[in-house]
Amino acid sequence: MATFVDRTKPGWTRRPFTTWYEQGRNWLRQQMLACGMEVEIDAAANLIGRIAGSESNLPPIMIGSHTDTVTGGGRFDGIVGVLAGLEIVRRIKETGTLLRHPLEIVDFTAEEPSEFGISTIGSRGMVNNLTEEMLARQDMTGLSLRDAIKMAGGDPERLAARARKKGEVALYLELHIEQGPVLEQTHNQLGVVTGIVGIHRYRVVVEGKANHAGTTPMDMRFDALTGASQLILELEAICREPHVEPVVGTVGKLHVEPNAANVIPGSVMFELEVRSLDTGLLEQIMRRFQKRAAEIGKSRTLNISIDSLSKSEAIRVDETIRQVIAEACQNTAKTAYLPSGAGHDANQLAKIAPIGMIFVPSKDGRSHCSEEWTDYADVARGVEALARAVMSFDQQL
Ligand SMILES: [Zn+2]
Repeated sequence: MATFVDRTKPGWTRRPFTTWYEQGRNWLRQQMLACGMEVEIDAAANLIGRIAGSESNLPPIMIGSHTDTVTGGGRFDGIVGVLAGLEIVRRIKETGTLLRHPLEIVDFTAEEPSEFGISTIGSRGMVNNLTEEMLARQDMTGLSLRDAIKMAGGDPERLAARARKKGEVALYLELHIEQGPVLEQTHNQLGVVTGIVGIHRYRVVVEGKANHAGTTPMDMRFDALTGASQLILELEAICREPHVEPVVGTVGKLHVEPNAANVIPGSVMFELEVRSLDTGLLEQIMRRFQKRAAEIGKSRTLNISIDSLSKSEAIRVDETIRQVIAEACQNTAKTAYLPSGAGHDANQLAKIAPIGMIFVPSKDGRSHCSEEWTDYADVARGVEALARAVMSFDQQL
């Protein structure tokens, strides 16, 4: 897959709806056919390979991920999950194993943030979660998402009709790189994903008084930026405390007015987000933050407003599913439990099916860059564990 990349871009770039993406998918389709799979492109242009099971009335077990990358991305994010499925099918065929369930391997269309301002396009489409508004969105060249899906072989007019419904997929499994440092630093080779975190985003506006930086004494200022700084440190302190579930909080966007070296900042807007598997914890952290903001505003005579921007729901992996995956992982290599701090195609599939995920380590915790790396031995352990999980689920579901 790493040979099908846009060489005018840094790293291993394979943006969705480009010729390199198409080449990669053509190669993948050939591999699927060579493994004896039936191949189809669904309404959302997802590439799906399928082998039959012995019990034709059972819904399929699905393994999926994506082969698109961010610009300047790496060779592992998403790709590992798709190729793992391919390898499992190859082994099943080679050993003459017959599963009860049909097995589907899916390369989901455009998982990463796309030129249309949407991510997880293919998995959204598969569960009928692409709205008319999304399909009408255009990229910089004026191409609509609807037409892009059509050009990639999809059938956007029939998305609703062909969408998978609850019960039509027995289980969705995804092997993915961790994209964080936890497995590496705790010397684990495999991670059982406990869930995918919910993300709550807020906009905070701090208003003080812009004034001359030379003539205004320190005790006569209403500096919006020092107030905002205190708030940001406050968020960090709250999130760093021990909690029942891991939680992370970040301020990554800051806008200072008037943003001049010789003017005391009159107003600051910043966006903050908090992530955790525990929605109640996120609400509780924000209540504390709001209380502290009110105190800081009062003591500094600043006007502080906090508005909710978005809340995405956390997804918990079902306890029984988690146990089967944990057993498969523990029989393979040293295993830890951890939440996924990033979203995946699994977020969408969770709307119609139980989901499970396995992580393999990311060197130095890095991803979405050319340094993104997972040792091949670690990838192989991930595939092994995934294969074991598929065999167990095939018997138990
Ligand atoms: Zn990914």
